[in-house]
Amino acid sequence: MSLNDDWRARSLRAVWHPCTQMKLHEGQPGGRPGLPLVPVVRAEGVWLHDAEGRRILDGISSWWVNLFGHNHPALREALVDQLGRLDHVMLAGFTHPPVVELSERLGALTGLGHAFYGSDGASATEIALKMSAHAWRNQGEPDKTRFVGLAGGYHGETVGALAVTDLGIFRDAYAPLVRLAATVDSPDARGARAGESAADVAERAAAALAVWLEANHAQTAAVILEPLVQCASGMAMHDPVYLRRVRELCDRWRVHLVLDEIAVGFGRTGTLFAHQQAGIRPDFLCLSKGLTGGMLPLSAVLTTDAVYRAFWDDEVARGFLHSHSYTGNPLACRAALAVLDLFEREAVLERNRETAAALDARLAPLHAHPRVRHARRTGMIWAWDIDTTLPDFARRYGRAALERGLLLRPIGRTLYLMPPYAIDPAGEDGSGAFLARTALEALEATLAQEGEVAPAPSAAPSGTGAIDAV
Ligand SMILES: *Cc1c(COP(=O)(O)O)cnc(C)c1O
Repeated sequence: MSLNDDWRARSLRAVWHPCTQMKLHEGQPGGRPGLPLVPVVRAEGVWLHDAEGRRILDGISSWWVNLFGHNHPALREALVDQLGRLDHVMLAGFTHPPVVELSERLGALTGLGHAFYGSDGASATEIALKMSAHAWRNQGEPDKTRFVGLAGGYHGETVGALAVTDLGIFRDAYAPLVRLAATVDSPDARGARAGESAADVAERAAAALAVWLEANHAQTAAVILEPLVQCASGMAMHDPVYLRRVRELCDRWRVHLVLDEIAVGFGRTGTLFAHQQAGIRPDFLCLSKGLTGGMLPLSAVLTTDAVYRAFWDDEVARGFLHSHSYTGNPLACRAALAVLDLFEREAVLERNRETAAALDARLAPLHAHPRVRHARRTGMIWAWDIDTTLPDFARRYGRAALERGLLLRPIGRTLYLMPPYAIDPAGEDGSGAFLARTALEALEATLAQEGEVAPAPSAAPSGTGAIDAV
C-alpha cells in the first residue's frame, strides 16, 4: 500500500468528511468515479503536497479561507510568538491584547465597532440574526423577528443559519427543523433580459425587495445578503448599485442590513470589504474565512453604536448572553492581526489588481471557449458557466483537474477560480501559467467524456441551486 493509500484508508475508517456523501469515496467498479480523497501533509504558498511528495495547486484557497498562500512566514512568526505568551483565556470577565487590538483595528477599517467573536462563519450568521432581533425587542418592537435573504443565498449550515440559506441541497433534509426566512430575487447579473445592464438587473431586484419590505417591514428584523458575489450558489455577481438601494430601503423601513462578507471580505472583490464599492455601511458585518488568512478558525460580527446601546441596561437578560468556548481566541486573533499587518505593509489590493489583469490575459482561451457562458470576474474571483450535457460535470471536472495537479471544485456547472493572492501570473513555468493551462486542459478532458453518459434532464448552464458536495 502506498503512503497516500494508507492515509486514505485510515481516514475513511475514522473521519466523517464534510459536505460529502461518504459512499462516493468507496471504489465503484465500473460505476461513476468520485473525487479521490487526497492526503495532504504539507503546504507552502499556493501548493499543497500529498503524502508522496506530489504537489497540487490550491485554486480555491482551501474553500476560500486562504489569502496570502499557505504557511506564510509572517503569519507563522506571529503565531509562534503568541504561543510563547498566551494560548487561550476565556473572554467573559477577561480580555487580552490580541482581541483588543483586533477589535480596534476592525472598527477603524469598517466604521463599525463592538466586535463580537465566534469560531466560524455559521456562528457569525447566528450571532448577527440573534443580535438583530434582540435589539428590536429591547427597543420595544418584539414583532420584528423575521429575516429576508436573496434567492441562492448562503450563510452557513447550522440550524439557525439554514433559515437564511436558500440552497435546497443543504436545507431540504432539515426543513422541519428550520424557521424559514423569506427570499427575494437575486440581483445576479446573469438574469439580464435583452438590452438590460447589470445595473438594470440590480434595480429590478431592488424594486422586488421594496415591494416585499413595504408589506412585511413591521415583522422584519433584517435583510441579510452576500455583497457583490453570492459564492456558494455559483459565483453569482451583481452591480454595487444594488447595495445602495438595499441600504436606502432598510433605512426607509427600519430594518437592519446584515452583510455577510465571510467569503468576499479581505480583498477578494478588489476592495478590503465588498460593500465599500457601494459606499455604504451595514448595520452588521459578518467576517470569517480570510480573517485569519486561512490559519485558524475565527469569526467576528461588527455592529453599530445604536445596536450596542440597545443592549446596555441594568437588567442582565437585556444583554447579549451568547458565547462560544473559544470566543476571541488569542492565537486566532493574533493571526488576524498579522493579516491586517500584511494588508498595510504590502499594498495587497494594488498588487491583486495587477495579478488579476495578468491572469485574465492567461485565461483568455477560457473566456472565449465555445462552451463557456457568462465569463465573469470580480476582483480575485473568476467564474464561467459551462454548457455541458454532463449531469455530474463538477465531479468529473474536479477529478480531471486533480489528476493534473490542480484543486478546483466547480459548483454545479459553474467552473470558478479563487486562488490565493500569492498566485504568480508571470513566467511560463509560474503558478499562474500552470493554473490557466491546467484549468483549460481539465475542461477539454471533461467535455470529452460527454459521449459516455446520458445527458442531464436540463442542460441549462447555470450554477444556481447547485453545490460543492462530493
Ligand atoms: C462559508 C460561508 C459561510 C459559513 O462559514 P463556515 O465557517 O463554513 O460556517 C457563511 N456565509 C458565507 C457567505 C460563506 O461563504
